[in-house]
Amino acid sequence: MPKKIAIIGGGFAGTMVIRQLIDQGFQGEITRFHHADSETLGPAYRLDSGDLLLNVRSQNMSAFPEEPDHFVRFLQTEHPEISHPRAFVPRSVYGNYLQSIWTETKSMAKQNLVRLDLKQEEINNFEDFDMLVLATGNELPRIPKELPKTVVESAFYQGNPWELELEAMNKNLPIFILGNGLTMVDTVLRLRTAGFHQKIVALSTHGFNMLAHPEEELTVISAQPERTDLVSLVHFFNQERKKHSEAQFLLSIDALRSQFSLWWQGFTTEEKRTFLKRFRHMWGTVRHRIPSVIAKKIELERASGQLKVCSGKLLSVDLEEGQLRIQFLSGENISVDHFSCLINCTGPETSIEKMSNPVLQELAKRKWVTADEVSQGIDIHPEKLRARGEAPMSIYTIGNLCKGTLWESTAIGELRSQAKLIAKGILSEK
Ligand SMILES: Cc1cc2nc3c(=O)[nH]c(=O)nc-3n(C[C@H](O)[C@H](O)[C@H](O)COP(=O)(O)OP(=O)(O)OC[C@H]3O[C@@H](n4cnc5c(N)ncnc54)[C@H](O)[C@@H]3O)c2cc1C
Repeated sequence: MPKKIAIIGGGFAGTMVIRQLIDQGFQGEITRFHHADSETLGPAYRLDSGDLLLNVRSQNMSAFPEEPDHFVRFLQTEHPEISHPRAFVPRSVYGNYLQSIWTETKSMAKQNLVRLDLKQEEINNFEDFDMLVLATGNELPRIPKELPKTVVESAFYQGNPWELELEAMNKNLPIFILGNGLTMVDTVLRLRTAGFHQKIVALSTHGFNMLAHPEEELTVISAQPERTDLVSLVHFFNQERKKHSEAQFLLSIDALRSQFSLWWQGFTTEEKRTFLKRFRHMWGTVRHRIPSVIAKKIELERASGQLKVCSGKLLSVDLEEGQLRIQFLSGENISVDHFSCLINCTGPETSIEKMSNPVLQELAKRKWVTADEVSQGIDIHPEKLRARGEAPMSIYTIGNLCKGTLWESTAIGELRSQAKLIAKGILSEK
């Protein structure tokens, strides 16, 4: 059994790999590297997330694949008033849950004589470990090429949508958001709570509306696709959409979602590229949904004109007398307006060559990890989650970095199973 493991990352994934290692009988030393602001919560489940809600019902948020009702049981004890399995609870409550698991894990480590070291620093001594686990979460979004360096380096550009510098933002001018997904929704709500009541413009290439989780409890009719090449799947889902109500269709997507990883692994490289170019946003829209109460808030914002969602393209961004002059194509029209800032909500960088994370940069430089064939993360063995590079030790990866190989590798339901699999893999190594 390997003796010295380094876990890199201070979020859900790192916590659950450690917990699974201990649960599965690991004996040895674990060193966890994390940033000062996050020992276990990551940006998603911070205790100061205000009234932001989870995007997934409580019944699907257990941290343990073998105990699907673990989170609901926590709620029944700690927050009985919001313990309905179908509820969407505040993210900070999930943060409390994660903290309680982490506290328990640390005390289990002591009892089981597992040495657990926590280090608030970047790892730079890879060779001191028998094995590495990359649990680094979401990278910052790529800086749009239309932004001049002067803007990127100023407070007018907010490049980390999970850590907004609110005090640097002017409350009188409109705000420009690039991107139109879950992060845009969070950002609008966060801004309103912080007293930013001005107009917000959100621009994305596709301009799809975020969909809400159906409220009805319906019986799911999930037909199975006969063939799982990309063209057949697109045909299958188009047919399903025509046959059913929207709510029924969305529930059948949920029922089929866990199979998407296998379909993805069967795609040719060309099919993966086509999916990325033409269908990823569509699939993302039906797949990543928001609670209906949040969807209603966004609808109200749009109906009142306070939030304008455009489909189009960013053309230019300039600094002009303490404001951002942004020119963008919206439909057929070119719009020009002045904004207090641009917030980048385009989603995490996926190309390891472009990631700013020093650990990933160093591992890529050493060729210990390499990009997968469609540059959506690290090239890994799908059944083991182990990187295929030239490293002298095993490097396991969990979460976002596995997207190119598995595609579905973001939600708690996926991460908890990956944590268990990685612990099993580590323990089976000689
Ligand atoms: C805003 C938001 C809301 C979400 N809501 C849901 C939801 O409701 N339901 C659901 O199923 N999923 C949700 N997800 C998806 C997923 O559950 C979370 O992203 C989850 O927190 C991912 O955990 P993680 O540990 O992989 O990454 P993270 O939580 O991002 O944690 C990674 C941590 O590692 C640190 N780190 C990175 N590099 C290094 C380094 N070199 N050295 C040390 N530390 C490093 C980071 O600072 C971070 O703290 C959400 C995601 C986001 C972003």
